[in-house]
Amino acid sequence: MPNHYPDKAVCPECGWVHDFTVYPVVNAETDPELKKKLLNGKLFTTTCPECLNTFRVIFDCLYHDPARKLMVQFCPPEKTETYRKIFDDLNQENGIFKDYTLRIVNGYYDLVEKIQIADNGLDDRIMELCKRFTAGNLSNKVSYELYDVKFFVRDDGVRNLALFSEEGPQNVLELHDELYELMSDLLKNIDIGDLDPYIVDAEWSNKAAEKIKEADSKPSQEYIS
Ligand SMILES: [Zn+2]
Repeated sequence: MPNHYPDKAVCPECGWVHDFTVYPVVNAETDPELKKKLLNGKLFTTTCPECLNTFRVIFDCLYHDPARKLMVQFCPPEKTETYRKIFDDLNQENGIFKDYTLRIVNGYYDLVEKIQIADNGLDDRIMELCKRFTAGNLSNKVSYELYDVKFFVRDDGVRNLALFSEEGPQNVLELHDELYELMSDLLKNIDIGDLDPYIVDAEWSNKAAEKIKEADSKPSQEYIS
C-alpha cells in the first residue's frame, strides 16, 4: 500500500494549480525522513512554481511510532468525531493497539508537541498539568494575556515551555524535572478513567485539576474515625 497519493494545491496568491503529494500516514520507524519533514513543517508546505509563493497545505495525517506505541491523528476539528470512532475500534480489549497511546489533535503545532513529548519519554497528560500549573503561576506576573503554553526541546536537549500571547511567542522557561515529578505524583492519585482518552489538551488538564482538587479536599479515613 503506497503511503502517499497525488493531489493538487491551489496557490492563494495567483491561483495557479500544481501537483502536491499527500502523506496520510507517517511511520516514524519505516520512514524517518518523512518524520523529519513533518517536524520541520515541509510535509505541509509547498511552493507555487508560477509565482514562487510558499504556502501551507493541510491534510489529515496519522503519525505512527510503533516503538513508542503512539498514534496521533492530525485532522480538522469537524473530523474529530470520525477519528474518535476509528480509535474506539482500534482500542478494543484484544486488539493489537490496546496498549497504544492514541491521540487526536487539530493543530499542526499540537502534533509537533505530541511527538516531541513522546520522543523525550514523557507523558502528555503530565505535561498538560505542567503547562497548566506554569500558566496559572505566571498569568498575574506577565504583562500580556497568556494564550498558550507549548513544550519544546532545544537543540542542546534542554526541555522548555514557551509562553504565547495571541501575537506570538513571548517567554521561554526551562521545564524543571521537579515540576514534572510533582505533577506525575498528583496524577497518580486520581482516577482519570472518565476523562477524554484521545484529546489531551488544556481542557483535559482543567478537568484533571478539578479531580486533583477534589481528592485533596476529601478528609482521609484517619480524620473520620
Ligand atoms: Zn502562485
